[in-house]
Amino acid sequence: MMPHDYDLLVIGAGSGGTRAARVAAAHGAKVAVAEEYRVGGTCVIRGCVPKKLLVYGAHFAEDLKDARRFGWNVPDCGFDWPTLRDNVLAEVDRINGAYTETLTGHGVEIILQRATVTGPNRVRLADGAEKTADRILIAVGAHPAVPECEGHEHGITSNEAFHLPAIPKRILIAGAGYIANEFAGIFHQLGAHVIIANRTQDILRGYDLQIRDRLLQISMMKGLEFRFDAAFQGIEKGIDGCFTVRMANHEPATVDLVMFATGRVPNTRSLGLENAGVELDAKGAVKVDADNCSTCPSIYAVGDVTNRIQLTPVAIREGQAFADTIYGGKPCRVDYDCVPSSVFSHPPIGAVGMTESEARQKLGSVKVYSSDFRPMKNVLAGRTERALYKMVCDGETDRVVGIHLIGPDAPEIIQAAAICVKAGLTKAQFDATVALHPTMAEELVLLR
Ligand code: FAD
Repeated sequence: MMPHDYDLLVIGAGSGGTRAARVAAAHGAKVAVAEEYRVGGTCVIRGCVPKKLLVYGAHFAEDLKDARRFGWNVPDCGFDWPTLRDNVLAEVDRINGAYTETLTGHGVEIILQRATVTGPNRVRLADGAEKTADRILIAVGAHPAVPECEGHEHGITSNEAFHLPAIPKRILIAGAGYIANEFAGIFHQLGAHVIIANRTQDILRGYDLQIRDRLLQISMMKGLEFRFDAAFQGIEKGIDGCFTVRMANHEPATVDLVMFATGRVPNTRSLGLENAGVELDAKGAVKVDADNCSTCPSIYAVGDVTNRIQLTPVAIREGQAFADTIYGGKPCRVDYDCVPSSVFSHPPIGAVGMTESEARQKLGSVKVYSSDFRPMKNVLAGRTERALYKMVCDGETDRVVGIHLIGPDAPEIIQAAAICVKAGLTKAQFDATVALHPTMAEELVLLR
């Protein structure tokens, strides 16, 4: 038998694929990675990184206003979208370069082409060339879902949001998950009138109810408009270039831009996985076992394409675990318990562990502690918005099983708090820690 071209061929140079390729190569494997768009994947090119930079940029709208209350003589400042957009895109280019160098520096061959699977050990590249490998890693990520409705082609997704020629005066965002709420905050702060339209009656499914209510309340206070039970019926483009969106249970809305943030679908369509007997679940995600192996023994999958937890650090851990297990002789598995998450809304949310309702269902006896306060900086700035911190404890053991925060810097605070929840600390152990004053985070050790 002819030896294969590579030990490992990774399809997709995003968070999971890049980590797996680099670590496998560092363990001595001969590795290639095929990428159809840009090295870095969603997180670097059109996800976490540019999004967070836009969140920072947008926040200046409030910061500049607040600065006056802190004695700064701030003139009426103009905002220039092309400057922010182009600086963010330049930073994306820089990180794209750094990722590329890391891969090549580890001897990974980068093939900038789309790849499809033609057999258990074989892929075909866009130029028609066939490559073989002992193992194939599917790390192709996911793409934005667009609802089937008349005129859906008029809408954009988060992919295009980073490249807009101008900030629209009015935007309607379909969906109410984290991406919808983050972009709603960005566009609002940058001067757009924002309407969030959701099929169901709530926002941010999966997050603690009180925290979701608080974001809704603050967002409405800031002037964002919400439409619930508003399934899309169609989008029409007028002769003036505006879009009229028809939706169930509401009057039509006329806006300058429509954005879909209605979930993300694994990129398995036309990938040829059926040629190798790789099974998919009902959502089109690759079915894998705890060691990331698909139903074909030579094909593995990590990251969003497996639809476990669609977050960058999870994809990275899965890529690392795969490479260490197979090529490093260090078998390991990802622990999905207590994965912290954030919504970089205005204000942001941080969460780890069980929500109050999950804990009540799973544990029965639950104690909840909360602090509803106006952060010091907001008081002086004359902002009425209040932060809310919630700690959910097992009523029997006193163990902290969930922490949920909304307020300034909540994502920064939750990362540290997540260590405590993961370590299984009790409320008494939080209380035994002396407060660090004056901070917002001190509330976590002062909850009564
Ligand atoms: P990806 O990073 O998507 O990489 C997949 C790669 O495969 C892509 O580069 C794609 O071009 C390539 N590809 C696909 N098909 C093929 C093919 N057939 N041949 C060759 N190449 C192919 N996560 C967080 O943790 N924090 C955040 O704040 C956050 N914000 C986000 C904001 C937005 C707007 C979006 C869209 C996502 C965000 N995410 C965030 C999610 C995060 O980006 C993903 O979970 C993460 O990128 C998944 O990594 P991955 O390796 O599975 O896939």
